[in-house]
This record gives sequence, C-alpha cells and structure tokens, in this order.
Amino acid sequence: MNHMFPPLLPKQQLAAPVLAIAAHPDDEVIACGAMLAWHRDQGHPVTVLHLTDGARGDPDHRFGDIKAIRRSEGREALRRLGVDDVRSLDFPDGELPENLAGIAAAIGAAFAEIRPATLYSFFFTEAHRDHRAVARAVAQCSGDLPADCRCLLFGVNQVVVGGTMFDTTEYVERKQDALAAFRSQLAYNDFALKIRHRDHAATVNVEDPSIQYAELFADLRPAELEAVQALTDPLFRHLLRDPS
Ligand SMILES: [Zn+2]
Repeated sequence: MNHMFPPLLPKQQLAAPVLAIAAHPDDEVIACGAMLAWHRDQGHPVTVLHLTDGARGDPDHRFGDIKAIRRSEGREALRRLGVDDVRSLDFPDGELPENLAGIAAAIGAAFAEIRPATLYSFFFTEAHRDHRAVARAVAQCSGDLPADCRCLLFGVNQVVVGGTMFDTTEYVERKQDALAAFRSQLAYNDFALKIRHRDHAATVNVEDPSIQYAELFADLRPAELEAVQALTDPLFRHLLRDPS
C-alpha cells in the first residue's frame, strides 16, 4: 500500500483481550480513550496499567493528597468509558527511567498474564521521560507478547509519525466526559478541549464528512518494536536535547 495520508482502518479487525499501559493516570484516556470505550462496547476485556502514582501532578499544592485524588480521577474517567480493570503500580512519578528494570518486570508479567491481542502504549517519540521509559520497557518485553498482538502506539506529547487512524466520531462526547473527570489536572491545563481539537485535526485528509474525529497510532507487531525503537528514540532524544 502506498498511502499519501494516514490510513483510516476498520476497528472491527481489532481483537480482545486488550491491554493499555499508561505512565500517569490520564495518558491512556487522552490518547486512546475513545478506542477503549469502543472495545468495551464490543464486550472486549480491557485492562489498564497505571505505572506511576502521579505525585507530580500538583506542582502548586492546590489539592490535598494528590496521589489519592489522581488514582480516584483515573478510575472514574475509565469507569465512564466502561473500563473497571485498572491496576495502579505506584512507581514514583518522573522517575521511570531510573526504574526501568522494575517497570519492565511489571509489564512483562502483565503480558504473560493477559496475553493481549491488542496493546495500547506509548510511541517512542514522547517528550516526557516517563513516557519514553514505558515505550522502552514495552519494546524490551516484546518477546513476551503474542506474536500477532496488534501494538497500537500512541502519542500524548507528540503526534505519532507514520500513524494509522481509527474513526472515533461516535465516541467524542464520551471521551470528553471521561476527560472531565481529571479535575485536578484540568485546573492546570484545559487539555480536554485541546484533545477534542487534536482528534478532529487527525481527520484533516479524510473526505468522508461523517468522520470528524479519529485516534492516531503507530501500528506495529511485537517483532518490530525493538527495531523501530532503535530507529526513533535516538533521533528524538537528539531533537529534544534530552540525554536521559
Ligand atoms: Zn503522562
């Protein structure tokens, strides 16, 4: 296939079970919240891993126990999408590169237990060091995934290069409702509106007027992850001037 624009793919080809991996309790809702709701509507089991406690999500100390608040907000957002299997691993926020072995062990254990047919996680070109550490750990553990697992890698900080798209138009209001649960985070930055615009902008070259929103992913198989990581991670660390 020679695509000039990101291909818009049928969701029906995506299988269960589903695993989504986030560094902070909001990443997965921002990046693939509509797809998670779609999977649940198909009856697909969906498990979400939150790797950190989100403790750095309140730099001005506006709230009380920010870890508890973010855990609660994360679960409420996912409940609104129909997801109730949420696991909080409580690695320290901002320090995932220093905990790479630990998060790789946790991710590998989740792969072995769940045997996902569809995996959602970070692409390798994220600006946040925790996001890149998760992407690296997922690539390291790729041998523990079923060989035909569909790895849909998303961008939270950055738009994924060479992505494919799924139509999420039907889910835009449910995703907005889920994002509204992140009150402690929206107090700092109204990213809900920005995400609505970004999902809309993803359809810039879609001519079908019934498709107004889409979520964008790098669409890979487990055997490709380490090679793609090796190609992209050094480039983006160079561009971001971040040696970590
Ligand atoms: Zn994050």
